[in-house]
Amino acid sequence: MSSTLALIFIGVAVLFILGIKFLSSPRTARYGNLLAAAGMLVAFFATIPLMQLHEWNLNCTLIVVGILIGLVMGAVGAYSVKMTAMPQMVAAFNGLGGGSAALVASLEFLRRSHSLEGVTVSAAVPMLFATLIGSLSFSGSIIAFLKLEGKFEKPHTFPGQNFLNGVVFLVILGLCGYLIGGETTNSTAFIVMFALALAFGIAMVMPIGGADMPVVISLLNSFTGLAVAGDGFVINNLSMIVAGTLVGSSGTLLTLLMCKAMNRPVTNVLFGAFGSGGGGQAAAAGVAGTVKPIQADEAALLLAYAQRVVVVPGYGMAVAQAQHQVRELSDELGKRGVEVQFAIHPVAGRMPGHMNVLLAEANVPYDQLCEMEAINPSMDRVDVCLVIGANDVVNPAAREEKGSPIYGMPIIEADHAKTVIVMKRSMAKGFAGIENHLFYKDNTRMLFGDAKASLNALIAAVKAS
Ligand code: NDP
Repeated sequence: MSSTLALIFIGVAVLFILGIKFLSSPRTARYGNLLAAAGMLVAFFATIPLMQLHEWNLNCTLIVVGILIGLVMGAVGAYSVKMTAMPQMVAAFNGLGGGSAALVASLEFLRRSHSLEGVTVSAAVPMLFATLIGSLSFSGSIIAFLKLEGKFEKPHTFPGQNFLNGVVFLVILGLCGYLIGGETTNSTAFIVMFALALAFGIAMVMPIGGADMPVVISLLNSFTGLAVAGDGFVINNLSMIVAGTLVGSSGTLLTLLMCKAMNRPVTNVLFGAFGSGGGGQAAAAGVAGTVKPIQADEAALLLAYAQRVVVVPGYGMAVAQAQHQVRELSDELGKRGVEVQFAIHPVAGRMPGHMNVLLAEANVPYDQLCEMEAINPSMDRVDVCLVIGANDVVNPAAREEKGSPIYGMPIIEADHAKTVIVMKRSMAKGFAGIENHLFYKDNTRMLFGDAKASLNALIAAVKAS
């Protein structure tokens, strides 16, 4: 590689790293996204002279057609996706990335093995690694996408499934070992390995419950990153090594953080059957207390005459797309001198940062947003805690019931507030499929209805009060 190109690729790597850095705060996230996209554009144009340098076949028409298809798919997907469908979109794009990484590595493997160049051990290892990880990430992501779209009602499990998956994985590793050690390359063994890796991706994701998919997607995302890094070694492309490693490590960290926030080991997500579509979990244990409904005008009076209100948004706010109404209510209360804060649980909603993104979209000031750890110690000094479409993240069972599937998960301690108003449509359970004792507590009132409609009613009643 010429020194100019090498410098350009180092610049690209810096853009990717800065992009990720800026993505860590809602204030700078847009800028970070643009920086990383700019890095990708530069990397793309720098690859063309790189190909000329290597005297590879340069089919410009094919490249332009590829770019146009990618641009149209990316732009249409990004503009049309609903916030609640974001995990699906990430799964689809991640699958395409993994599939591309696998194709690059496998075509290079087959090309070299059929040329005089041959495949050395040091070249075969990253090629087979990228093929294996990329293809299982491709097929696994497609299944994850379909599950999130609700195409599979239940997780597909059978006795001995993990054992069978383990055997398939060992066969794949055996084939890789054979391909690395062999004097000449056996294309059939390579194709069988590729097909088994695709099948393994399907078999790995099929038994996992649809509601655990965001964690699985984050893991598959890190796999795709590693496959791309492997490709970088295969075709000697620095920016692919850096970008792939960044995605691989950040995806792994995100997976671990999500599991930590749910208080579950990653093995439990991958090999357990929790979150299998919601509702299939623990039955309602004997719940003490009664459900006490409240009407919007009465709830509005409680809010309007409170000194301090904490809003806990959850998945239901995303479903109802009620973030703008939440902002309006907060502004209205603010005008009356009420202190309003938003308590953000790390796994509220269905993807990390889900609530932050929605509230930022509605221009809720960042300084009103509080992390769970920061707000919990002062929850007993809150006059009204307004829970909007959140369920599991405020469930005291996580603190009080040893046998509960969510026992040990940190929660926002809404029940410590003087009064809790819970906005949801029914007594339906949340993602974990378990009963929420908060709804039956003496200080809790249930405001039933779609969150957006209820908020509109609250805003009108607060204005009139
Ligand atoms: P939950 O899934 O626990 O509960 C959401 C509640 O919203 C439901 O009980 C539902 O009740 C209500 N709801 C749905 N639609 C509406 C609507 N239109 N109007 C009003 N209410 C509505 O959500 P939480 O945010 O509390 O918890 C997130 C869960 O997801 C956690 O268990 C977490 O572990 C899990 N998870 C989160 C991930 C993340 O990265 N954020 C990743 C993977 C899992 P009803 O139907 O009665 O209205």
